[in-house]
Amino acid sequence: MPPSTQQQSKYAWSQIGRAAPPKRPAGERVGDFREIYSEFDEATVRAQAARCIQCPNPLCMTGCPLANRIPEWMSLTAQGLFLEAAALSRSTSNLPEICSRVCPQEKLCEGACILNARTDPVAIGAVERFINEYAFHHGGVEVVQAPANGRKVAVIGSGPGGLTCADELAKLGYSVTVFESQLIPGGLLVNGIPAFKLEKHIVERRIDLLAQRGVEFRLGVRVGWDVSLAGLRDKFDAVFLGVGAQKPKPLDIPGAELHGIADALPFLTQKNVDSPLVGGDPIDVVGKRVAVLGGGDTAMDCLRTALRSGAKEAVCLYRRDLANMPGSRKEYANALEEGAQFKFLTNPVALIGDATGAVAAVRCVRMELGAPDASGRRSPKAVPGSEFEVPADVLLIAYGFDPMPFPKESDFAQIATDKWGGFKIDGNQMTSLPGVFSGGDSVRGPSLVVHAVRDARQAALGIHHYLGGWKTRPAK
Ligand code: SF4
Repeated sequence: MPPSTQQQSKYAWSQIGRAAPPKRPAGERVGDFREIYSEFDEATVRAQAARCIQCPNPLCMTGCPLANRIPEWMSLTAQGLFLEAAALSRSTSNLPEICSRVCPQEKLCEGACILNARTDPVAIGAVERFINEYAFHHGGVEVVQAPANGRKVAVIGSGPGGLTCADELAKLGYSVTVFESQLIPGGLLVNGIPAFKLEKHIVERRIDLLAQRGVEFRLGVRVGWDVSLAGLRDKFDAVFLGVGAQKPKPLDIPGAELHGIADALPFLTQKNVDSPLVGGDPIDVVGKRVAVLGGGDTAMDCLRTALRSGAKEAVCLYRRDLANMPGSRKEYANALEEGAQFKFLTNPVALIGDATGAVAAVRCVRMELGAPDASGRRSPKAVPGSEFEVPADVLLIAYGFDPMPFPKESDFAQIATDKWGGFKIDGNQMTSLPGVFSGGDSVRGPSLVVHAVRDARQAALGIHHYLGGWKTRPAK
């Protein structure tokens, strides 16, 4: 007879090591764009969930931006009650099968797990993925259309924030229309996150679910250009703006006008999505030396996408060291395994072109780290006389993103913004325009999928309160 969950939890962590979900060998996975991880089997997921010690003050929940009820679904999973565990997981997250794949768990739930003080943390992300995939494959994800409440809400953008807000409001009976500028819904989940981290059919499955709940998707509509805010406010009772922040930060060094330089997002989109709106000149990396500027997750995605797209080499140039690099350690390790190179404490200062006007090399200076800056990270300083060159045929810029400005004449320009251009919001995620709400990257700047989910859940609640539905408990 198997031990009780309490017995398992009390001792399992010291007897069972943390397991990682199965990962395809690097040599195989660089040949395609399929996901690199698969799922635990049932016995492994139960054993891994039993490593959770059920601490009375669960730090993992504090580390998770959604305050997911992790110890409770760990206990259910350890008992083999996978559908019950998944239902609990869905009660606090609208995209658990997606967050479990793309969250940097080592900085969030798993980074906060109390077991870190003694051993390796519970494999929270992998368990979350298993139970939610199990629910999808065993008919455990309900498709219920709530009774209509007669109110209409427009959601602008179909990225993680837009999908979450639409989902929450549909559960409350709102008639929700999602406007998306691209012809494929999903926003950054399909355009920006490569399929080797999140296959497109996972996002499509979630969108289908929303459509079955009655959410309408209008694709290829550019709000601010094709549709005005005034028009939307006229037609809908409230508006949620989940437009993200996708304007690339500029490369401001001599030589930036050379050929062979591309921004990260168009490159990732071209290699990931077969969409008529992707457009732009094809960015060919076959047989080429690719240099990626930046040290975040987008830079890792570019390196790994370049290698899968036939690049001869892919090297990351980053001005701080590994300890101060913002990218996920898991993705860094995966990139290294796949053959990406990293040059830390390396700051590009100019680009050198060849006779045809194409980039041929990046002139860099060696950096050293000084005192921490306002963000707590140590500021890099150039080492005098340390210039060197890194040969490159293609340069990909992954320096981050700013909000995409609406046309000056557009009525969206009347929404108050902060100094970096993000929408200002109140405690209910409402902007300076009554009835217009926002969240995610368009408020915070470039951030995590899970933060967009958190904000959008808050905004949906804010919209529900604004429209007088506060007496009704939100659906779980
Ligand atoms: Fe961890 Fe992200 Fe899942 Fe929260 S949503 S439990 S942070 S993987």
